[in-house]
Amino acid sequence: MENLLRLIPADIRGDLIEREETCRVCNEKTGEQIAVVDYWDIKTSRLIKCSNCNHIQLDPMLTDSETSKGCNAFYIEQLLGSGNEEERINFVRNFRRGVVFGYSLKRKKISPHSVLELGPGSGYFCAGLKFVFPDIEITVLDININVINFNKEHHNYKIIHDIPDYLIPECINRFDLVIARDIIEHVSDISKVIKNVNKYLTPNGYFHFITPNGHEDVWKHYLTSKLTDSPSELLINHVNYYDGKGLKKFLVQEGFIPVKYYTYKIKTTLRGSGWKKNQKLMSPVSMRKNADLLIKRQDMEMSDIELKKEKILDKWYIQNKAKWITYLFSIYQHISIFRINPELNIGHEIYGLFKKK
Ligand SMILES: [Zn+2]
Repeated sequence: MENLLRLIPADIRGDLIEREETCRVCNEKTGEQIAVVDYWDIKTSRLIKCSNCNHIQLDPMLTDSETSKGCNAFYIEQLLGSGNEEERINFVRNFRRGVVFGYSLKRKKISPHSVLELGPGSGYFCAGLKFVFPDIEITVLDININVINFNKEHHNYKIIHDIPDYLIPECINRFDLVIARDIIEHVSDISKVIKNVNKYLTPNGYFHFITPNGHEDVWKHYLTSKLTDSPSELLINHVNYYDGKGLKKFLVQEGFIPVKYYTYKIKTTLRGSGWKKNQKLMSPVSMRKNADLLIKRQDMEMSDIELKKEKILDKWYIQNKAKWITYLFSIYQHISIFRINPELNIGHEIYGLFKKK
């Protein structure tokens, strides 16, 4: 079966070039240019596949202020586009995922006490984790002040307003679990981030992440480049595209041991992502979307989302007195049946639970 699956991902190839910046995973100086992308109207850059470790990243990388501006525009666009009801559904979904994750730790006899989540979004994943471990202490770190304020007011978490690339001395050796769900594809310097995570963890602490399968995620930009020879639009700052084999090797080098490592969701592969050269799968040709314009709309159009936590979690299956009901329902909703070896580079999302050596 695995041999058959190995045939699926198509080769991603480009011209060999000198990079402006060395690879942030392995320091290599050359790479293959596989696409040109526009990050809003903020920056035009290239996607380069490392000649040595296969990691694909932006070259040159976005600066912190460019990232911050684009993220802000993206966050506003998302909020303007989705109604309150949709937000609520997402919150509960993340809560259930937190419950499933919490019980998966419990089954492994892991009981975290102090957790740091990088890029918590709505904070509901950790709320689900807290449902399983009521005494857990949660700290969240984010670059976006709106996210930080929401997490403080809504969940009463401890907050750190910063980016994960900078080392925060107070965090060293303080957490027995660090969570980064859909974060490591966004960071400018993955080496720094992973070194920081390692330092923040207590001995034998755990690191949990999910991140897109890079091969599939970059496919849309690769297609735009191959089929139209034009820059494609990069609105969400995916600046890293991980190779399943390379990511594991990198984490092991940085002092982690894999506990669980797999790819899940294969619908996108079935539709052709990662192998089919079809125009429908392309990322749109860039229109250099104006970020400032969107940021200005924030004050005019955004109303505060009126959301009460008790109301959001008022579901028949969320019961403190019968947590097993919550657990069963959450498992039923979110269990991934197909689990694929990430080294095959197929499927949608990589799940990782690693332990600090
Ligand atoms: Zn490299």
